[in-house]
Amino acid sequence: MAGFPKKIENLITEISKLPGIGPKSAERIALHIISMDDYKVDSLVNAIKDARKNLHLCPICFNLTDKEVCDICSDSKRDHSTICVVEEVSDLYAIEKSGEYRGVYHVLHGRIDPMNHISVEDLKIKELVERVAKGGVKEVIIATNPNFNGDITSLYLQKVLKPFGVKISRIATGLPKGTEIDFVDSVTLIMAIKDRKEIK
Ligand SMILES: [Zn+2]
Repeated sequence: MAGFPKKIENLITEISKLPGIGPKSAERIALHIISMDDYKVDSLVNAIKDARKNLHLCPICFNLTDKEVCDICSDSKRDHSTICVVEEVSDLYAIEKSGEYRGVYHVLHGRIDPMNHISVEDLKIKELVERVAKGGVKEVIIATNPNFNGDITSLYLQKVLKPFGVKISRIATGLPKGTEIDFVDSVTLIMAIKDRKEIK
């Protein structure tokens, strides 16, 4: 049985490193890319390069943006006294898609993960504490994933935010244990935010 030529194997290997892509999908995508017209490949590559070059993290919430401050942080119609803390930018957009949340966000860019040596210093936790310390924040909604790492991150956040006397709540009521927020449908997600429980 003949395998793929080495160059295709390399491409499959690279694509399979992307999140959510299994070996079979990686193979299909690789073969598809190879069969694409040159100009389509160029526009794909350019879109990747352009996005990487022109996007940076919002200095307030650490969402991705191509402006100085992201659209959410610069929107005066949003409730800047409520901060929803998420692990990843994809979680922020999952909540945004529900269209019901009117507060602002804080993206941690990960979760505390002792197995993979990801600790507090690797995340935007210090920045969150500084944000809350500045004042004007009434509630912090912790929307880390309802799994082991998300829960220990939540516990840590509760501990460091408690001295500021803000209301701290945790979503995930009604979310099945172990689910990832960016895979949950909008209705379930918005119910989870509405049913959030204050942590005393
Ligand atoms: Zn922002």
